[in-house]
Amino acid sequence: MTTLADPVPGGRPGDVPRATALAAELAGRGVRGIVLAYVDTAGIGRVKAIPTARLPTAAAWGVGMSPVFDTFLADDSIVATDVLGSPDGDLRLYPALDRLVELAGQPGWAWAPVDRITQEGERHPGCGRTFLRRTVADAEERHGLTFLAAVEIEWAVGLASAPEGEFVPAVSGPAYGATRQIELSDYTADLLAACAAQGVDVDQIHPEYAPGQFELSVGALDPVAAADRSVLVRQTVRAVSQRHGLRASFAPAVLPEGVGNGGHLHLSCRRDGANLHTGGTRRYGMTAEAESFAAGVLAHLPALTALTAPSPASYLRLKPSQWAGVFTAWGRETREAALRVVTGTAGRQERYANLEVKPVDLAANPYLALGCVIAAGLDGVTSAAALPEEITGDPARLGEEEAAARGVRRLPASLPEAVEAFRRDEVLRAALGPVLADAVTAVRLGEAAAVDGLDDARVAAAYRWKY
Ligand code: GLU
Ligand code: MG
Repeated sequence: MTTLADPVPGGRPGDVPRATALAAELAGRGVRGIVLAYVDTAGIGRVKAIPTARLPTAAAWGVGMSPVFDTFLADDSIVATDVLGSPDGDLRLYPALDRLVELAGQPGWAWAPVDRITQEGERHPGCGRTFLRRTVADAEERHGLTFLAAVEIEWAVGLASAPEGEFVPAVSGPAYGATRQIELSDYTADLLAACAAQGVDVDQIHPEYAPGQFELSVGALDPVAAADRSVLVRQTVRAVSQRHGLRASFAPAVLPEGVGNGGHLHLSCRRDGANLHTGGTRRYGMTAEAESFAAGVLAHLPALTALTAPSPASYLRLKPSQWAGVFTAWGRETREAALRVVTGTAGRQERYANLEVKPVDLAANPYLALGCVIAAGLDGVTSAAALPEEITGDPARLGEEEAAARGVRRLPASLPEAVEAFRRDEVLRAALGPVLADAVTAVRLGEAAAVDGLDDARVAAAYRWKY
């Protein structure tokens, strides 16, 4: 389980001796430096790095970094809110020692995600990981609920030797094709080895639908650990790709048309350790609470897309009939509905029954996305919301009237539309707090303005190698 307590100046109790022991152990294994990682509001992974011997100092006092990154855009330009985006100020990055891991794909390096606090020792209201930690802690305190979560990772594998900026698929075999698996046999075996060495339990790895696309799915953890893991897995895929002369793109749309890269979220609610998505009296064995949780997520989906699909490129992916789930609908094992109820196979429901949220991509900051999906679900639990009728098949086939009658709506088709929905969503804004909510709005509008007037091909190219 993730440590949910905030970092404090001087270090959380026990952290400094622990960091001292870890630093000695890592140095003994030839680890020279530690990457301190977080994800900014725009969904870009940002880092600082320290020599291994500095770890105890970092655990005690953090490592400095400007808060300006909270309003960075994917192209490194900067927007501003009332309180963020100024060149003034400094924050302290505190490594999460529970998550510190030697990087199998980058010999000589270890990695840890960070929480950010102010120089005065206060929580930084713009910190996504802190937001998710708080959301999870509150859910347990106020509702007695805990969660297991996982983020699916899809990516396109291109040749590193491709002309600057271009994507040349590294494989030519068909979707889910045996040929494609053989073409990148050494690469995927190295990926599995790296994940295993880092304690990441991989469920599956397979060639996916789009050109050069692969997918890796991992075991579920508490939400903060799941978000950390999704960042670590991407760091690993990137590093292993580079060692094989390949280049990985997690962009929602590597190409302007066709199937994109998703980052579907899987989430299950638990009470006293029992999975609420099975053994209940509601449809498909859901308990009343699990149904209400799902109904809450469904109701907030249009606004959630500002968190789960935060890039202009996200809307090249979010198209009907591409398994990205662009309709406010749910169904059992329905891959075109935004919410897929996964019951698990007979005998394994307790572990595997969960809710899958599909209109999520890997431009999303996983801490913000998971925290907001949880906040939306809890809103449903609080109001004992009920799910509408389920959908089978592709909602795109429904005529306008039938769709309206069944409450099936198209999710936002552009980033500005998503921002509009987010602006109207008091629940999500309140959950994030004013500083993060304003940062999300400013950054999304900044991204939208940055691509104003560009055609789809240029939008895809602009973000192809950013995520
Ligand atoms: N690539 C699809 C997406 O963009 C998902 C395919 C699948 O269901 O795994 O979400
Ligand atoms: Mg997939």
